[in-house]
Amino acid sequence: MKEQSFFQLSQDAVNQLAERYGTPLLVLSLEQVEKNYDLLRTHIPQMKIHYAMKANPDLRILETMINKGSEFDVASDGEINLLSSIGVSGDRMIYANPIKTESGLQACVEAGVTRMTFDSETEIAKIARFVPHATVLLRLRIDNPAAHVDLNKKFGAPREKAMELMLKAREAGLDMAGIAVHVGSQVTTADPYLHAFDVVRSVMDEASRHGLDLRILDIGGGFPIPETGVHYNLTAMLDQIAARLSEDFADKEIWSEPGRYMAGTAQNLITKVIGVNERNGQVWYFLDDGIYGTFSGVIFDQWDFKLLSFKEGRKIRATFAGPSCDSLDIMFRGKLTEPLDVGDLLLVPVCGAYTSASATTFNGFKKARTVVWEEVRKELGLEQQELLSMAV
Ligand SMILES: *Cc1c(COP(=O)(O)O)cnc(C)c1O
Repeated sequence: MKEQSFFQLSQDAVNQLAERYGTPLLVLSLEQVEKNYDLLRTHIPQMKIHYAMKANPDLRILETMINKGSEFDVASDGEINLLSSIGVSGDRMIYANPIKTESGLQACVEAGVTRMTFDSETEIAKIARFVPHATVLLRLRIDNPAAHVDLNKKFGAPREKAMELMLKAREAGLDMAGIAVHVGSQVTTADPYLHAFDVVRSVMDEASRHGLDLRILDIGGGFPIPETGVHYNLTAMLDQIAARLSEDFADKEIWSEPGRYMAGTAQNLITKVIGVNERNGQVWYFLDDGIYGTFSGVIFDQWDFKLLSFKEGRKIRATFAGPSCDSLDIMFRGKLTEPLDVGDLLLVPVCGAYTSASATTFNGFKKARTVVWEEVRKELGLEQQELLSMAV
């Protein structure tokens, strides 16, 4: 079986792209997005994929996913309307935000979205009012303190309230169809999924004793991408999940909502050193992209990005800051790097998820422009350089 791959530009490509398009520059590989989709399909063939577009809503990624036959996990009216505007029908979306706004539910009515999740009693009446007979999944809380970002702190009904909530949903006329879990993000072993499946199994058994036949298991997202200092075996993990799904949930529809995994490995950032300073004996490098831009993932996603300089020299520890005038705009302190000069380019691979998606234009700095590798490489006559195994 194929292993997880990621897209990484060569030094030559970085130099030529920076010269042609300027920096900061995001370079997106749609072929990599396709590979990510195909690998997941190969290893868990029974699982329907709904791309969690919040990870990276770039239109070209959405179009690639549409062509692959993917469906979508949406969380707001904005996401629903964006997909509608490019021709995605509502029956290819799940509104997977357990707490929905009225404008979000109104968008469901207009777009024909009828599948959604809930984890509280107040949501049942809200859903029934806008979308009577909606197909709903109960989002179950699964504690996973090992997750990179533990979303179960915010969402999910406790196990002991599951039955009561499901019966109330049925009473309200909703199509009480299944269970949704999301075990966290950047999950690097199958264990949290397998643990979640135990809990789901017991809920489904209890439900059938109450005459409620649940037909859908939505296993959420969380699949990992290469990260500094973290070792994992994606394909082994997916195979374990697939085996367990076949054993225990063979008669259920299996849904998933991967975000980070689909987009993370498909995008590189090229950023430039625009200033060097020494403060209290520490070297500071100022880059043309920062916390308010593509590196917003440092804060919102608690992510430690890898910086490649293509330079030689004994490594030093330095502070990396962004271009804005705000003192919060510092990405890394004490980060090991080759010594750098003004004008040097840095490549940030594995930079496609929770990066550009949460970038702002604070202080008047434009968001990094995105070019598609498969388009620009022809123009520049460049070869694709790709590393086929995880480099961590
Ligand atoms: C964010 C989110 C996802 C995607 O998570 P990843 O870790 O990026 O795969 C999936 N489902 C729900 C409900 C989410 O909130």
